[in-house]
Parts: sequence; C-alpha cells; structure tokens
Amino acid sequence: MKPQLTWQPYNLQLKYPFTIFNYSRTTTPVVLTQLEYGGLTGYGEASLPQYLGETQESVIRFLQKVDFNRFSDITQIDDVMAYIDSLDAGNTAAKASVDIALHDLVGKLIGQPWYKIWGYNPAKAISTTYTIGIDTADVVRQKTQEVAGQFNILKVKLGRDNDKEMIETIRQVTNTPILADANQGWKDKNHALEMSYWLKERGVVMIEQPFVKTDIENSAWLTERSPLPIYADEAFQRLNDVPRFKGAFSGVNIKLQKCTGMREARKILDTARTLNMNVMIGCMVESGCAVTAAAHLSPMMDFADLDGPLLSANDPFKGITYEKGVIVLPDKPGLGVEKIK
Ligand code: MG
Repeated sequence: MKPQLTWQPYNLQLKYPFTIFNYSRTTTPVVLTQLEYGGLTGYGEASLPQYLGETQESVIRFLQKVDFNRFSDITQIDDVMAYIDSLDAGNTAAKASVDIALHDLVGKLIGQPWYKIWGYNPAKAISTTYTIGIDTADVVRQKTQEVAGQFNILKVKLGRDNDKEMIETIRQVTNTPILADANQGWKDKNHALEMSYWLKERGVVMIEQPFVKTDIENSAWLTERSPLPIYADEAFQRLNDVPRFKGAFSGVNIKLQKCTGMREARKILDTARTLNMNVMIGCMVESGCAVTAAAHLSPMMDFADLDGPLLSANDPFKGITYEKGVIVLPDKPGLGVEKIK
C-alpha cells in the first residue's frame, strides 16, 4: 500500500480584520493536506497570505507533481523532503504542507509527539506573544486593556509615524514586556539606534526587521550598536540565509511556511545556535494544524509568536492551547492535532 496525498482549499475567517498599509482583509486562503498510510492520517497546511505570492492554485499544481511511489519507506523524512524540495524552486508553503503532513503521519507511525522524538522538554514551551496592531491611541488602549493579564509578552507593530505614541499608550495600561516589529518601516539608521535606546527604557525586549529586507548593511550597523537584539523576519527565508546573516542580525524569525516546514526549521535552529545567534518561531495566519507543528520547536526558542489560532473564527483543528499565555503542547502522537471541522 502506498501513501495517498489529498488536499482541500479552505478559507480561514479572521475574527478581526487584518490591516496593513492600504488594504485590509478578513480571510486568509489556505490549503489543507492529508497524507494517508497504514490506516493513519497525517495533517498539513499551506497558508497563503496574498503578499507572499503563492495561491491555492499554485499549491495544488505543486502537490499534483508529488509522487510518493518512489519511496519504499515513508519514515525517511530527510530523503522525502529533499525530493519534495527538488521538484521546483520556491513554493515554500506548498512544500511545508507536505512536510507537516509527513511529520504528523510519521509521528503517528512511531507513536510519539514530535517534541518527544526530538528530545525537547514540553515544560520549556514558552509564552506566545499577542499582537497589538497599528491603530488610533483609543483603539490601542482598549485592545491592550482587553488582553492585559492574559499574556506575558505583547507584540507591537511599529514602523509608522506614531511609534512612540503606540508604546506610550500601551505603557499607560500595562508593563508587560514588548517585542517591537518595525516590519521594514524605518529608513534612517541613526533614528533606528535612537529608537532602540528609547524602546529599551520602556521595557521593549527586541526589535524585528527594522529596515527594508534588502538593506543588510544598515542592519549590521544597528546590530553592532543597539542595546536590543535585532531579528530578521522579511529578510530571512531559509537555512542558507543563516550563515550570511551572522553579524547583520542578532537572530532570525523562523516560519514553517517560509522555510518548507519542520525538517528545515530544526536545521535552522541548530545552525543558528552553533553560530551563537538567537531564534524565534513565528507564523502566518494559520489554523491550529500548522501553528501546532511550529510549536513543537518552541521549547528551544528565545521567543514564540504563535497566536494564529486565537485570530481565526473557523479553525478546523484543535491543537496547542494556552495557559495564561504559555503554550501547552498536546501530548498525542505526531503533531497531536485533532480535526474538528
Ligand atoms: Mg515580523
């Protein structure tokens, strides 16, 4: 009997509209994958926010090319994913949807959850950040009041002309540590350095992607001088970026949809640690399936930005839960997710 890969396009409905720059959206398209073998089913997911270039159609075109018949042993994930990666350039979310389903299936065949197969301590799973979006001071104050006390760390989107107002408004409500994501919004290196000192004084603990993703030079200048660690997000995609970012960034934001899944994410983690760099794990708008896959790496991370399941109104999976903002990993085999829709 051979493994059967099937897929289903799905639209995740957001509880609140997601607004950046000039557009706002209330749904995120995903493709849910299923890999069946030996009476077991592995679940996977590709998340496809518009700005990343993959679509439900391009994912399905990619999945149609996958031929598992060439493998006599499906548990050899490294061989299988090397083949999947070689099928075409790019398509990282499509590749991740296969990788995640494959890990779920193989974990179920082995009979253990992935954190256990990898030897990670689930009690070290860290707190997720919760994101406060760019908005007017009144809305920011109200949103902060709603979540203050429920989360141990907040994430704030900066990079516009109201950065200081955003932080000061939140600080009127709570002293919870803040992770500041500039989303490529800062232009001037001296301004960025000044901001890093100003933010540190106000309990910000790190800065994500200060400059446009191609600007590695200014980032290296800032990383050398900033009192806060500087993380690459938009600039960072895959394993081969890690060595060339040594010195230019203090750390990298790993996302399964950018790096083709759990297999490569783990290699990024180990490579970054070897180079004395920091690591965080993040997500797109994703269901509990892909976010739980990412969460299996969270015991080894400096920060986790895994609030995806809190944002969607029609999540077809039950996976990780949160206890006062701390990630709780399911203890069932594979990813440990349950399909509920
Ligand atoms: Mg970011």
